[in-house]
Amino acid sequence: MRTSQFPLSTVKEIPADAEIASHQLMIRAGLIRKLAAGVYTWLPLGLRVLRKVEHIVREEMNKAGALEVLMPALQPAELWQETGRWEKYGPELARMKDRHERDFCLGPTHEEIITDLARNELRSYKQLPITYYQIQTKFRDEIRPRFGVMRSREFVMKDAYSFHLDQESLQATYDVMYQTYTNIFNRFGLKFRAVMADSGSIGGAVSHEFHVLAASGEDAIAFSDTSDYAANIEKAEVRRPPFNRPEPGRNLEKTATPGKKTIAEVCEFLGTTADKVLKTLILVQRPANPQDREARNAYYMVLLRGDHELNEIKLSKIIGNFDFAKDDEVQEALGCRPGYIGPVCQENQPFLGHIIADYAVENLSDFVCGANDEGFHYTGVNWERDCALTQECLHDIRQIGEGDPSPDGEGNITIARGIEVGHIFQLGTKYSEAMNAAIVNEAGKNQIMVMGCYGIGISRVVAAAIEQGHDERGIIWPNELAPFQVAICPMNMYKSDRLVDTVEKVYQELTAAGIEVLLDDRKVRAGFMFSDMELIGIPHRIVIGDRGLDSGTVEYQGRTDRESQEVPFSELVGFIK
Ligand code: ATP
Ligand code: MG
Ligand code: MG
Ligand code: MG
Repeated sequence: MRTSQFPLSTVKEIPADAEIASHQLMIRAGLIRKLAAGVYTWLPLGLRVLRKVEHIVREEMNKAGALEVLMPALQPAELWQETGRWEKYGPELARMKDRHERDFCLGPTHEEIITDLARNELRSYKQLPITYYQIQTKFRDEIRPRFGVMRSREFVMKDAYSFHLDQESLQATYDVMYQTYTNIFNRFGLKFRAVMADSGSIGGAVSHEFHVLAASGEDAIAFSDTSDYAANIEKAEVRRPPFNRPEPGRNLEKTATPGKKTIAEVCEFLGTTADKVLKTLILVQRPANPQDREARNAYYMVLLRGDHELNEIKLSKIIGNFDFAKDDEVQEALGCRPGYIGPVCQENQPFLGHIIADYAVENLSDFVCGANDEGFHYTGVNWERDCALTQECLHDIRQIGEGDPSPDGEGNITIARGIEVGHIFQLGTKYSEAMNAAIVNEAGKNQIMVMGCYGIGISRVVAAAIEQGHDERGIIWPNELAPFQVAICPMNMYKSDRLVDTVEKVYQELTAAGIEVLLDDRKVRAGFMFSDMELIGIPHRIVIGDRGLDSGTVEYQGRTDRESQEVPFSELVGFIK
């Protein structure tokens, strides 16, 4: 490619809204242009990088046996209603009506669509396991789109979905995907970590995030310096107390200890102060309207005070982390009747509710707090016991920090910043059950399929690569993602026919060897060429001048080299490859 046909769109100005290096550099190097908040056009140079990311992902997914499909961005509301996510997803879902007033959305993800496809296309267990994937545009009306394509409202994702007869088969594919992701991020040439992530839903669904390490990362991850332990901070800060499933049928309403404590007394038990408790403890009530699914999700993580003051606290934050909606599931998991249960939950630690509820079930046979369908009215609480246990639990869940012993008992914890570029997840039967995606099993019976899903933020990877690779002069691409590998900068080419011939020859030779070359044939100063090539991050630069023609050499400098060196023409291809 020649700059005469492939004009560079580099600019000097840093846009006012570009807070981090990758966003600034993507604009300055002419990779993207903003159309609206969180909505970007990819320019030719940027698109070359995006396509490289896609290409590597596609190759590795194909290698893993996944089948490529392409699903629509426009999705009918009916499918989302089947799984309950039409109500649950919230304002991040970009909704619209068609001319017939029918509800649609622009897909932020495709579980509903693929599950619909699978229930229609898959018939027999012999077709399983199967993994579908696509590389496709997603829409999320992010509350705060920022950092350019890092957190945008329209972005490209690779999303894959696997279907299985049983958990064992899911685990096998999950392991393959974990390895595939490792291969993909290695091929990108990026420093990354796979970490355990918490799903927040009951039943211990397995999930891992892949993070590119970068100081500007929005997430914190914790890992051990001597073992494989690695988790995102939400997962790492939770240390579960031992929990054995209670016997089914046991319930918690047996013995009530009438009377309730004042907040001051509760605080004393918890060893904390009232203002803290008011901020961190939440009263969750069973909703008067049983159709209110969100509130129902939370009803079992309950309580603290006998009055209703805390009802005001908005619950959306924690409830968003609880996926399981059904009374009977909760009942089964906790071994108690719906409407009765446990002590406290911290606003910023959604899992705490779980743990304490688990703990209470396990340890408090006479633990009581009563609720009816109107909300809370206490029948009585054994505060002394309740608070002592709460304290014990809280103690167990203090946030993990730098230098702490690793939860697996091996080594100490390092905390680093990461950018979430991939997320894999064992979905189980959450979607297949809601949408009745069944298959005929070996015994000839219908059986609900087990599912996994696997995402990579294709466009976010481009920004993440720049976060990890840049200096004051511009982008430093890893070889595999660079839009071109080599920049040829001829010195005063138009003054010498001999030079024109040589430049042309070198360009042809490198191109023929499969190297992507950008020949700067603009009539501009050398310094101008150099700063452009550095800004756009081309890994190898070759300067060809009249002087080198006599000695048969070019002046070579790698993007991160301090000095240039002479390389003979004849050795150039080998040198670069
Ligand atoms: P985040 O925590 O950053 O909001 P997420 O957990 O909501 O991401 P997933 O639903 O796991 O995202 O989607 C899979 C991948 O898609 C993410 O790992 C990330 O790389 C990418 N992604 C998600 N949201 C965005 C966005 N707004 N802009 C660009 N990429 C995104
Ligand atoms: Mg998100
Ligand atoms: Mg996330
Ligand atoms: Mg995620």
